[in-house]
Amino acid sequence: MSDYVNRLMAQVATRNPGEPEYHQAVHEVAESVELALARNPRYVDARVFERIIEPERVVIFRVTWVDDHGDVQVNRGFRVEMCSALGPYKGGLRFHPTVYLGMLKFLAFEQIFKNALTTLPLGAGKGGADFDPKGKSDREVMRFCQSFMTELQRHIGQFTDVPAGDIGVGGREIGYLFGQYKRIRNEFTGVLTGKGLGWGGSLMRPEATGYGTVYFAEEMLATRGEGLEGKTCLISGSGNVAQYTVEKLLDLGAKPVSLSDSGGFIYDKDGIDREKLAWVMDLKNVRRGRIMEYAERFDGAMFTPVDPRSSTNPMWAVEAHCAFPSATQNEINAEDAANLLAGGVYVIGEGANMPTAPGGVERFLEARILYGPGKAANAGGVAVSGLEMAQNSERRAWTRDTVDERLHTIMRAIHENCRATAEEYDVPGHYVHGANIAGFRKVADAMLDQGVV
Ligand code: NAP
Repeated sequence: MSDYVNRLMAQVATRNPGEPEYHQAVHEVAESVELALARNPRYVDARVFERIIEPERVVIFRVTWVDDHGDVQVNRGFRVEMCSALGPYKGGLRFHPTVYLGMLKFLAFEQIFKNALTTLPLGAGKGGADFDPKGKSDREVMRFCQSFMTELQRHIGQFTDVPAGDIGVGGREIGYLFGQYKRIRNEFTGVLTGKGLGWGGSLMRPEATGYGTVYFAEEMLATRGEGLEGKTCLISGSGNVAQYTVEKLLDLGAKPVSLSDSGGFIYDKDGIDREKLAWVMDLKNVRRGRIMEYAERFDGAMFTPVDPRSSTNPMWAVEAHCAFPSATQNEINAEDAANLLAGGVYVIGEGANMPTAPGGVERFLEARILYGPGKAANAGGVAVSGLEMAQNSERRAWTRDTVDERLHTIMRAIHENCRATAEEYDVPGHYVHGANIAGFRKVADAMLDQGVV
């Protein structure tokens, strides 16, 4: 580690105790940003990076609600308004029992660079609650969302902060949140993205993150004169991102063979085809069941439960060409990364945010495979959220083809920006440096223009 990164990380650790994911995210970006600082002393003089790592505002609030038994429940809600250099704060809400401030700061920090890469006018934020929607009735989820929004509404708005979904927050939750915002504020505006199609949502928003990640992988492969046709692909998770990653892989002739949830993973050697995917979508989005049921339903598929004593995930040892981690942060450690490489994987498209732990990233970079980091590869979701905001402002809805074409163009441009920036900095093929530096420069230049704020 260089002196600069050492000093910075010591400061980050002191000022943000007990937030390991935040330290990890800052560390990774700092190693790239250092290269940009060396070429532009104005960034150093204005202490741009030191400002970027300090959230502009953090709101923490109590969320009380009554469950179906009449018992009072207490959760904690958050919104991290990280950076508004490029536009209103923008980033999802996560409802998961593991949510705490450090996790949301890491996600909001990643969002700064991701949103900058889209080239759309989007600042960065993230929020959520330590609420677990799993096992709750629709009415409990509604009461929770209403209570959460009763506080959040005073901090957000179409020109201020525009949240979206993330883990545990899908169409159902966005609907309840929007309903409560509208009721309290007496206005119908694009304050959230991921809305229903009939009331301001954009076509292609549900598909955007998964499709975009596959488009990014396609671009990486094209640099070696290859495509996705015939490639065997591992996918983790079975939520929004995983489902639409599988769908786009099928469109492009690839063979997806795995899915997972927090209970374990399924491996289907025959491939997850369209009919099986439709069944998974119903299982996860309507029946809200567990992925283990897949192996009971389809012959030839195997379910492997999570083994809490094991240091590796056996899914990452299955032979394949490509892997799309699409569940959660740090789901691939150094050992998993070694297993992926040993199993023949040479394309990684990160649908999830920071799914690869630092030791794993190091292995991928050393092996010089096509490694597409989350902040570039999964930027399609927020990009289409930006397009949803544009449609809301115009009071119009674009066609599916228009949105898909724009998404595809944005993903190609992000890939090209990362690739070209890596070359400019003499690290060709290093998409991590490429993404971090390209995103940083865009935000840093805006911050220089806007003065010390
Ligand atoms: P989702 O629909 O809620 O699905 C999440 C999936 O990941 C579920 O299968 C879930 O299994 C699994 N998972 C979550 N936490 C886990 C854990 N701690 N251990 C094992 N499995 C876990 O969420 P999503 O929207 O697909 O998001 C997935 C990832 O993509 C996240 O990292 C998110 O930040 C990132 N992302 C999402 C978007 C978007 O537009 N939605 C955009 C960019 C990035 P269980 O049901 O068992 O928990």
